[in-house]
Amino acid sequence: MKSQDIRNTFLNFFEEKKHSIVQSAPMVLKDDPTLMFVNSGMAPFKEYFLGNAQPKNNRLTDSQKCLRVSGKHNDLEEVGYDTYHHTLFEMLGNWSFGDYFRKEAIAWAWELLTERFGIDKDILYVSVFEGDEEDGIPMDQEAYDFWKGYISEDRILMGNKKDNFWEMGDQGPCGPCSEIHVDIRSAEEKAKVDGKTLVNMDHPQVVEIWNLVFMQYNRKANGSLENLPAKHIDTGMGFERLCMVMQGVQSNYDTDVFTPIIREIETITDKEYGKNEKVDVAIRVISDHVRAVAFSIADGQLPSNTGAGYVIRRILRRAVRYGFTFLDKKEPFIYRLVEVLVKQMGKAFPELKVQRQLIENVIKEEETSFLRTLDQGLVLLDRIIENSKTKEISGAKVFELKDTYGFPEDLTGLILRENGFTYNHSDFEKKLKEQQQRGKEASQLKSDDWTVLVEDEEQEFIGYDTLEAQVKIVKYRKV
Ligand code: ATP
Ligand code: MG
Ligand code: MG
Ligand code: MG
Repeated sequence: MKSQDIRNTFLNFFEEKKHSIVQSAPMVLKDDPTLMFVNSGMAPFKEYFLGNAQPKNNRLTDSQKCLRVSGKHNDLEEVGYDTYHHTLFEMLGNWSFGDYFRKEAIAWAWELLTERFGIDKDILYVSVFEGDEEDGIPMDQEAYDFWKGYISEDRILMGNKKDNFWEMGDQGPCGPCSEIHVDIRSAEEKAKVDGKTLVNMDHPQVVEIWNLVFMQYNRKANGSLENLPAKHIDTGMGFERLCMVMQGVQSNYDTDVFTPIIREIETITDKEYGKNEKVDVAIRVISDHVRAVAFSIADGQLPSNTGAGYVIRRILRRAVRYGFTFLDKKEPFIYRLVEVLVKQMGKAFPELKVQRQLIENVIKEEETSFLRTLDQGLVLLDRIIENSKTKEISGAKVFELKDTYGFPEDLTGLILRENGFTYNHSDFEKKLKEQQQRGKEASQLKSDDWTVLVEDEEQEFIGYDTLEAQVKIVKYRKV
């Protein structure tokens, strides 16, 4: 089944169950001080759970663009090294706002996975909240009993507060959850352990695909829980992981969500995926990061030196460096992947298609600009590593790389780690603060890559019809 059909099957299934299909909300949040990017399907629906707003239908279904690169959920360091954590991913969800609860959520999840998608029951595991004394919440017996109707009891595992009690943040709606995990080990792999098929859920090839949250409490400012006036269902299934299961492969990167991008990287760089681990990591990182950057730009978030814009710049610079060092690509090429991405995703996410030109221009400019200093910076960093008497580099050196060569702190940290080195983070922070202070005193607009014509305007998403104007702004680069 193609990924496009997998997404549609999910949405159509819930539409049959009287849900309205809604488009993904933008991933970039402009007015939420607690969150820079949408990091889970529920974020755009926060106000419904809190009872501050009313949806037009109390059953919705969607595929939400999520980004987990900052704050509470940050998977950036995993990306490329494992095969199922991405920066940007789609979270498929079905939502009940004060309507159905545990029984239907569990029944429909099971029906969809085993009947509609035809996933073998013998590779599924589920988890149930074991309860928590501190919060005075008992084990989720109800969920356990519903699951028992579908799956043998040795496949229902107890989970603690960390994994099986979902909280939006320190305050707000929360509740116990049940996760569904899939054992994707190959038959060969299973045979190796003497036919023992039941494995611990921590096994790297037992992958969590779906989280069903039974939203029934509100965490108050003093930390105590109260019952919500209404009970809600919030589910999130990793789309790329579901595709991995459905397409019978062992890695999200082997699904058709990623293979067209990977083939294009192979063609452009003349490297082959699957031959050398370092090359493979680089290819996975780039194929992941181009999606995050492209979708962010499509949502109106251009790379910049502050806030969400800097997160995007950091992701892109990481990708550029992986290409430079491990794929020997010394000129811009990541922007060329946008065409394939748009072909693959443009139907489900029309904003990509509409903003294609802008996305390509911005990525190309960013690549060109960073490539100008990357080589020199890497030479300097090599020298620092060679000459260092200890395994810890000073924060001042990391700062110099940022200030002079545009190396984001996490990029320098990554390269140091690859070489078995660390650096003094607090010292780096101190240097950064001093610089910001100097900047304030000189009270000048600062931007080392883009000339800010009208502050903030380049970052503002004004609408598709102002595309031209944005491209123009982007083109005014400082030389
Ligand atoms: P994991 O334990 O694998 O990190 P999670 O428990 O952090 O996942 P949830 O917050 O429960 O994930 O999100 C719901 C679903 O979204 C997960 O079951 C998974 O399928 C998917 N998901 C979560 N993080 C990622 C990611 N970084 N990349 C791709 N899919 C993800
Ligand atoms: Mg996680
Ligand atoms: Mg988990
Ligand atoms: Mg989870």
